Amino acid sequence: MKTKQLFFFFGITLFGILSSCSKDDDPVIKKPIPDPEIMSIIQNIKEDSLQKYVMELESMGTRFALAPNRRDVAMFIKQKFEHFGYSATLDSFEISVYYGGALNVTWQYNVVATMDGTVYPDSISIIGGHHDCTVRASSGDPMVSSPGANDNASGVATTLEVARVLKLAGVEPTNTIKFITFAAEELGLFGSKDYARKAYSAHKKIKMMLNNDMVAFWSLPDTSNWTVNIIDYPNSYLLRTSAEQVCKTYTSLKTVTDNTYQNYSDSYPFHLNGFEAIFFISDADDPNYHTPMDLTTACNFKFCREVAKVNCVLLLQNNFEL
Ligand SMILES: [Zn+2]
Repeated sequence: MKTKQLFFFFGITLFGILSSCSKDDDPVIKKPIPDPEIMSIIQNIKEDSLQKYVMELESMGTRFALAPNRRDVAMFIKQKFEHFGYSATLDSFEISVYYGGALNVTWQYNVVATMDGTVYPDSISIIGGHHDCTVRASSGDPMVSSPGANDNASGVATTLEVARVLKLAGVEPTNTIKFITFAAEELGLFGSKDYARKAYSAHKKIKMMLNNDMVAFWSLPDTSNWTVNIIDYPNSYLLRTSAEQVCKTYTSLKTVTDNTYQNYSDSYPFHLNGFEAIFFISDADDPNYHTPMDLTTACNFKFCREVAKVNCVLLLQNNFEL
């Protein structure tokens, strides 16, 4: 091959290489670029705040749904939202369950804080998690001691912290955002069933529901393998994939989707009523699950902070004109 031909060949080959390096192939260009305004908001999500909320909820002794302090628990969370500058309400409903050999009829209280949408107030996005907890009978009496730090003060803390930083940012959403902590989940998803059923009957437009249940357990400090399980439903595939993209862009979290427990938390009744919901849970077996050892000291709040960031970014991307 002569020199001139060689240059021609090189030219063609180089052009071929360059043109095959599309944006999709280049790992540097492919890495998602975070939005600076979103970054400046989520950097206010604090590990210390999350830990403090969980510790305060744990210190109530028990948050078992049939315990006499159930309204106090709801009031405590309501006042937290109000302290951040929200209007919040207790959304009450009655349940009948067999427990301790008798039928227990009790009033239960979901807590609902609202940030009104400025353009589409009827369009609603929900972030939440259940505030009650329990322990297995073999490990103790839930009426007496049920700390529920990971399950699920962590989900409540995530909801509270996202509410705090969105208010702090001073941004107004185009759609309405509701921050909800659900009652009596452990007895049969009662709080979310009641809320989702009423929303469906009233023809509410719930565009997304983000459920957080057990989002603070990870035993290892090394962030390289931290993984959140993002559970989805047949109608929420797109919401789950956008959550995966957010994890990649804004957090150190890896993602997995294992739907084994999709029917066992507050996202499920929303799905059953036709709303798009996803469910965040640490992809790790918590050895303290439903025992008196589910304590703040066993939680990893750096992990929890990453999950809170994902929730916050999804709300920002879907409800704000930044
Ligand atoms: Zn739970």
